[in-house]
Formats: sequence, C-alpha cells, structure tokens
Amino acid sequence: MMKIGIFSNPGSASTRVSNALKSKIKAEHLVLDNDDPDILITVGGDGTLLSAFHHYEKQLAKIRFVGIHTGHLGFYTDWRDYEVDELIDSLAHDNGQSVSYPLLDILIEYSDGKKQSMLALNESTLKKLTGTMLANVYIKDQLFELFRGDGLCVSTPTGSTAYNKSAGGAVVSSELDVVQVSEIASINNRVFRTLGSPIIISPQEWVRIEPVELNENLMTCDQKVVENRQIKSVTYRISKQRIAFAQYRHTQFWKRVSESFIGVKPVD
Ligand code: NAD
Repeated sequence: MMKIGIFSNPGSASTRVSNALKSKIKAEHLVLDNDDPDILITVGGDGTLLSAFHHYEKQLAKIRFVGIHTGHLGFYTDWRDYEVDELIDSLAHDNGQSVSYPLLDILIEYSDGKKQSMLALNESTLKKLTGTMLANVYIKDQLFELFRGDGLCVSTPTGSTAYNKSAGGAVVSSELDVVQVSEIASINNRVFRTLGSPIIISPQEWVRIEPVELNENLMTCDQKVVENRQIKSVTYRISKQRIAFAQYRHTQFWKRVSESFIGVKPVD
C-alpha cells in the first residue's frame, strides 16, 4: 500500500489544507506515514518544498514529491489548495508516473581540514558579509579567474529561475544536466577582471571556489545558511542523485517560466 506523508508550513491556510488532506487520505484507505513516505505532499510555497527536500534528503531515492501551493502557483508546486479532491483521485490511481530533476552536489572543505557534503535543489551561494569577496575560481582544477565582488551563485536548472536569475544568470531548461555559475556584483575595471558573464558546466566538469580571505564569508544552500566556520574551498558539480516529482499533471517548464515571469496572452 502506498504511503503518503504531508509536510506543511504552519500558516492557517496550509494547516486547513493539510487537515483536509489527512481526512481524505484516510477516507480513501491510503496510508499516512510521515517517516517513510512514498509520496510526500508539501503544502505551502516553494520555500516549503525546499524545506521538505532538505528534511527528506536522505530518502530521495524512494520519495516522489507533490507540491500544493496555498498562494499563487510556484515553481515546484503544481497543485492549488482548492484542488485537493483531484489530487486525492490522482493518488488513488497512481501508477508510479514521475519526472526528475538534477541536484547540485556540494563538497565543503573547512580550514581545520574537515569536509562536509550537501545537496542543493535551487542553488548555493558564497558571499562576503562585509567588503569584497576575493576568491580563486577553478574549473576542473585549472585556475579560471580571481573573482572580486559580492559573491558567486551556483545553481541547478530548476534553481536557475530563482536567485540565479536575479544575479543575471540564464534560465536553463530543466531537461539539461548542468550547473550554472553566476556572478553577484563582480568588480570589473582596468585592474580587476572576471569573465563578467554566467558560465554553464557539463556533468563531467566541476567548479571549485577558494576564498582568499577566510573570515566573514557566508555560504548558503537553498534557503539555509551553512554553519559559520572558516571555509577553505567549496567544490560544486552535478549530483548523481535527483529529485523526483509524481507526474499526475505536467506543466511544461517553459510554460511555467512564461506564466510566472511574463504572463503573456496570445493576441487574437
Ligand atoms: P523567500 O521567502 O525569500 O522566497 C524567495 C522567492 O523565490 C519566493 O517567491 C519563491 O517562490 C521563489 N523561488 C524559490 N525557488 C524558486 C525557483 N526555483 N524558481 C523561481 N522562484 C523560486 O525564500 P524561500 O521561499 O525560502 O526560497 C529560498 C530561495 O530564495 C533561495 O533558494 C533563493 O533562490 C531565493 N533567493 C533569492 C534571492 C534573490 O533573488 N536576490 C535572494 C535570496 C534568496
């Protein structure tokens, strides 16, 4: 029997939706299991989906996610709060349909020699809290540039519409297995030079960022700030793991981008 978990943000609208979900799941004789779910329904927005992803990141191989949005449609949320009945019907007729997206593999090396791995669904950034971040950037262990600026943003294709887009990065098709690095306010003048444009690397390549000054750097992984220890280097590459969504309905990636950012309607 398929096990269904619910991960809700604490707001009143989301709590109402998750209570309705719980009673309908019981009425359909589906099994509620938040510890070991096959399907994990998030109720809230993109931020809730990001939190759920990190909460369940050790169980990614088994879980398919479904996002219900209690506000407007989000990037990871295909269902609206008034569509609970339709969603329950899809769950009852589930045949394992899914779509999966690439994730970002992050390896941090701290100045004390300790290493830590993590995964990001949207992006990871490395920034300096005060002043200019100075960092050596390597691609496949080859020095690429000495970066000076606010910081760097390394994103997945589905994360390319988030922070990366604000940093001037390209929106990347979710069908590509690539990692993008975009600059956050780089300094470019006669003395200092960075490439000045976003780069996209293949699954066979990796990027390593080594801050030159170890103090006051801030690292983020999706919505979280990484523990504030001195970071010697961070290596980014496409992960071998992916996130899967139950594909009961499919909003085409470029349709979602167009509707979210442009809202264009055909002219008769
Ligand atoms: P939040 O409440 O600050 O929301 C940020 C916004 O980003 C929300 O509108 C959310 O719907 C949207 N968003 C999240 N993932 C997206 C995606 N893949 N594509 C398009 N839009 C997306 O924070 P949150 O909800 O916890 O989300 C964390 C995310 O916020 C981070 O992963 C980062 O991408 C983004 N962020 C963006 C900026 C920026 O654009 N300058 C700065 C900080 C964080």
